[in-house]
Amino acid sequence: MVVQLRSAISGLPVYKAGKPAPPGPNGVSYKLSSNENPYPPLPGVLDAAVAAAEQMNRYPDAGNSMITSAVAELLHVDEDQLSFGTGSVAVLYQLLQAICESGDEVVYAWRSFEAYPIAVLATGATAVPVDLGPGATHDLDAMRDAITSATKVVLLCTPNNPTGPAISHTDLIAFIDQVPERVLVVVDEAYVEFVADENAARGLDALHGRENVAVLRTFSKAYGLAGLRVGFCVTHPSLAAGVRAVSVPFGLSVAAQAAAVASLEARDALGERVRALIDERTRLLAGLAELELGVTDSQANFVWLPARENTQLWADEFSRNGLMTRPYIAGDQNDGIRITIGEPEANALVLKVAATFG
Ligand SMILES: *Cc1c(COP(=O)(O)O)cnc(C)c1O
Repeated sequence: MVVQLRSAISGLPVYKAGKPAPPGPNGVSYKLSSNENPYPPLPGVLDAAVAAAEQMNRYPDAGNSMITSAVAELLHVDEDQLSFGTGSVAVLYQLLQAICESGDEVVYAWRSFEAYPIAVLATGATAVPVDLGPGATHDLDAMRDAITSATKVVLLCTPNNPTGPAISHTDLIAFIDQVPERVLVVVDEAYVEFVADENAARGLDALHGRENVAVLRTFSKAYGLAGLRVGFCVTHPSLAAGVRAVSVPFGLSVAAQAAAVASLEARDALGERVRALIDERTRLLAGLAELELGVTDSQANFVWLPARENTQLWADEFSRNGLMTRPYIAGDQNDGIRITIGEPEANALVLKVAATFG
């Protein structure tokens, strides 16, 4: 008899990461497959990380105290509402581990973030995916109908990765208020900094006066620290304590903590970069809309082409032109290509190549 994996683990889907940039014509190529930030670290961040790395023989601050107080101040929340992890995906794993066990159900939209089914199934709980509605938005009515007495958590991704639309704040609040209080609503705001729509969901506002809401945020996207792994959750203090209780000790490295703190101090430069990426997104969305390829709204740093049966064909065509995009193929209506907003040259090339699709 050999060692057996838990049955929940042996059947887990594998997380497929975005592929590296392909060799492009004339050696020019762009990686638009992982929603990374095309900019170098914000001013002061690299120096802070390097200085911190001189302490690499020491364990990091296990309580993440500097970044905790900086985030609490920025977001006007209490420190005991926060818990950090090596990326907000890790925090989601911890949150689900703290709440779910075999027999519980977790409802989420599909397509949405690929890490969700894995994070849910790893706890032994049952995944309940609910098809997106028209325009690749969350179908909140159908999601509410999917809630049973076994449901422990609902995951909402706004803006939704990989399709782009944000849930409206009114819809978010109406949804949460219809959900039983014993069900936790997780609002994954990985792309919140890129939201331009004033009516879009504000997860932190939804937290007020409620004990069954958790907001996930990350330093990986707008802040450009994907390689250093820092994310966090804001929720009711008792839940936050549960997340901290299952977190891996000393998860955030000395360099990651220092870089995250320094990033918060560079908010002016961050704002400029985010505005530039939003402008690029507006241009790209308008250009793609003119091509009548069915592009959906995006409030994030990527756009979604619902390419359906052309998904692989068009992804290959992008790749031949030096653009690595992210095709999603399951053989269903939600198949398509996610394209990260990159350098202006990259976005212009996306339009040029897409103009050849017909
Ligand atoms: C990128 C992303 C995250 C955050 O990832 P980390 O790098 O682990 O912080 C979380 N949720 C969604 C939907 C994402 O796209």
